[in-house]
Amino acid sequence: MHSNNYTLGFVFIVTLILGTMLSFTKDSVKVLQEQNLKADVQKTILRSLNFDESLLLTNESIEQTFANNIIDEISDSINPSTFEISDSMYRQFSNYILTQEIKYETASNRLLESLKEAAIKAIKDGDTKYTAVDGTLALKKAIVEKFKRENNLNYSTDQITVGAGGKHVIYNLMMSTLNKGDEVIIPAPYWVSYPDIVLLAGANPIVIECSEEQGFKLTAKDLESSITNNTKWIILNSPSNPTGACYTEQEIKNLAQVLRRKPHVNILSDDIYEHVTYDGFKFFTIAQIPELKNKVVTMNGVSKSYAMTGWRIGYAAGDKEVIKAIAKIQSQSTTNPSSISQAAAVEALNGTQDFIPIRSLAFQERRDFVVNSLNEIDGINCLKPYGAFYVFPSCKGLIGKKDTNGKKLENDTDFVESLLENNNVAVVQGSAFGLEGFFRISYATSMENLEKAMSRIKEFCESLS
Ligand code: PLP
Repeated sequence: MHSNNYTLGFVFIVTLILGTMLSFTKDSVKVLQEQNLKADVQKTILRSLNFDESLLLTNESIEQTFANNIIDEISDSINPSTFEISDSMYRQFSNYILTQEIKYETASNRLLESLKEAAIKAIKDGDTKYTAVDGTLALKKAIVEKFKRENNLNYSTDQITVGAGGKHVIYNLMMSTLNKGDEVIIPAPYWVSYPDIVLLAGANPIVIECSEEQGFKLTAKDLESSITNNTKWIILNSPSNPTGACYTEQEIKNLAQVLRRKPHVNILSDDIYEHVTYDGFKFFTIAQIPELKNKVVTMNGVSKSYAMTGWRIGYAAGDKEVIKAIAKIQSQSTTNPSSISQAAAVEALNGTQDFIPIRSLAFQERRDFVVNSLNEIDGINCLKPYGAFYVFPSCKGLIGKKDTNGKKLENDTDFVESLLENNNVAVVQGSAFGLEGFFRISYATSMENLEKAMSRIKEFCESLS
């Protein structure tokens, strides 16, 4: 009774406000929707306004969730969400350091100029129409050449697909091959999009934790025990985001030995950081093992190698049937990737590759600085990775301590939040990548920023008690 009176009172007040605010037009419905009121309250209000309830037709879903069932299970991809956090935090903290930003400097200016010219030429020449759904022949040929030149792999152009970024290619691959009940083995720490893409495709991500002691890499033993009759894919990523871990040729061969005995398992090799390796590390990709080549889809792209993240070109090579299936998904979603970006990607792949070792040296210097600085801090332990531009230090030694506001750090999320709040450095908690007790730092930023970041992290860790 009491609550009925309350509801009636509430409805009366809202009616009064809305009655004066609105002129009984369709806008009323919109305003009511924007008030986020429950459908029955909206109906009562509209009735009292003598408003035609049938206009609520589109509102039947107001109490249902707008998105499909899977959306709630999916997290925002870490990169865009990190940028969002960074952006809003940036406004709050004037002296905040952005360690997430992918910013290449070094010798890429010349390259950038030639990419821009290729794109401008494409525009001027009228290469601005639809292309073949999964890429122009010119780009496919450049990709075929790339695989031959750099990986000693032979493909024909009908074994190549091009999408709007590496992520798009992975998404299309999973959408075109997975059925309900299928399993995809994902070694953790993983790139955040893998499990969510698998979920979106209606299948089950099977996450296998790879400890710091094993260099964050999957062992043949763990692989073997995680394969079931339902395993459709395993995803390998070397060099890795978020750890920078790189599988040696021998380590890949050890995994391959298991996979050769499991012909129902396909392999997605995400090689996007192929060109960012250090200390003379020799990159090896699993498609180079002849017995497995037909089971492997090798994904790569121009985002990281050529600092072309915004151009959105990724590609993959694999079995013709899989490549055809990917094109089908793409044909009913995005159609071809931008014709102009494709022209620039041809230039990137066919043009000079001189800057790659120069850039790797510049990153190597930053990696050394970051790893050494972190290992000088009590409670932090950081492995030295051989690729990508990330480190994945452990903060386990500091969990349980209190920050200067008296807040107890219960886990890695508390650690990164407190670091951001107290010392203005943004890093990402390891649990976001499937391994708790760690955090990820991207050192794709200037040395000056890294120096500031390292001294702030040290200061923060020393302030914990
Ligand atoms: N794979 C990994 C491991 C990545 O880190 C990223 C981007 O951050 C991608 C794939 C996707 O790259 P793209 O920008 O080409 O979609």
